[in-house]
Amino acid sequence: MSKTINILNSRISNNDDKSTLTFDLKIGDNNHSLYFSVDKKYGEYLCGEIADGVLTILLPFAVKNNYDIVSAIPVSEELLYNFNWHFLPQVAVCNKIDIPQIKIETVKTDYKPFAVSTGISCGVDSFTTLKEYTVECKYDDYKLTHLAFFENGAHHLGINGFSEEQKKCYEEQKEFVLKFCEQYNYEVVIVESNINEVLSKAFENDAFEHTHTFRNIGIVLQMQKLFKIYYYSSAWNLDVFNVDITRSPARYEKYLFSILTTKNTRIYSSNKAMTRLEKTEYILDFEQSYDNLLVCYMGGHNCGKCGKCIRTMITLDMLGKLELYKNSFDVEYYKKNKPIILSRIYAKKHFDPFMKELHKYAKSTGYKIPLFSKVLGMVLFVGLAIKRALHI
Ligand SMILES: [Zn+2]
Repeated sequence: MSKTINILNSRISNNDDKSTLTFDLKIGDNNHSLYFSVDKKYGEYLCGEIADGVLTILLPFAVKNNYDIVSAIPVSEELLYNFNWHFLPQVAVCNKIDIPQIKIETVKTDYKPFAVSTGISCGVDSFTTLKEYTVECKYDDYKLTHLAFFENGAHHLGINGFSEEQKKCYEEQKEFVLKFCEQYNYEVVIVESNINEVLSKAFENDAFEHTHTFRNIGIVLQMQKLFKIYYYSSAWNLDVFNVDITRSPARYEKYLFSILTTKNTRIYSSNKAMTRLEKTEYILDFEQSYDNLLVCYMGGHNCGKCGKCIRTMITLDMLGKLELYKNSFDVEYYKKNKPIILSRIYAKKHFDPFMKELHKYAKSTGYKIPLFSKVLGMVLFVGLAIKRALHI
């Protein structure tokens, strides 16, 4: 007999400055309360009468862990139709697994939302979408009106699952983003949530990267009264399309967005078909990014040492524009340690598609990588290959 996720009830509570939507859940034998909390001025846009977002957040976990889903709160008809008629049959075929039963009543909703939004982390994806839909896109109805910042597990410090320390990282990055939005006069919607804590406790430390799309768009769909259009920047294009429910949705999310679109809220993939390197190149003339680029998952400044910092600094260096970002990165540290930092390309180009792209770009442009970096990288590669083979 399969296990059950039960969405039991929902309630909205208000205090002086916050409105909070809470869902009580029973996952297997355990009870959880999942909340979404916003500034009071956005409280009227929380949708407590539908469970579209909660269903979206929980769906990949139900599939992977063999749970059925029942709910006392209905969901939008088009969302359940999209899941049951389109997405789940494809998931079953692509993953050769049984799909969950979803036993939930449907409702027809017509909220007339108005916000055109995207997430703002101040990373490369954010600035690419920001430039695209404030400067480049000439279609009025598609220009950004609001930015969004969600507590969804993205501020994970490189840890799978939940840790109290992640809250500090979230708070630091929120302050960074708020300062940026104030400087450039962007309206930003902050949604605080215990999504990561609930999911980590219920499903044993699943990696954020494996469900990021469902978590982000789940929050958007729980606020369908506000969000008319929401842009999400994909890491991958459809040339690597693959519906593998156990890995990152980034390889199939350009398809998934049509599934997660309802009568109220339309989800689009932003950044056309740009690669990571092309996105970085795209923002080089977008001055807002120079002093405000934050790519790190370790806190409120770029640590310069994690994988995301390293690959971004190398990319900017290859493009000849690292100096433009001297207030975002420790450029002197990079210059001093460049031969060691560049060794990462050779250490990881066989595992990491971003490093593979940088290697290809270096070859095509004649960017000089010292012999020392190549040799060190190859030694590191052997170590990594052995570790992967031994699963350590
Ligand atoms: Zn970092």
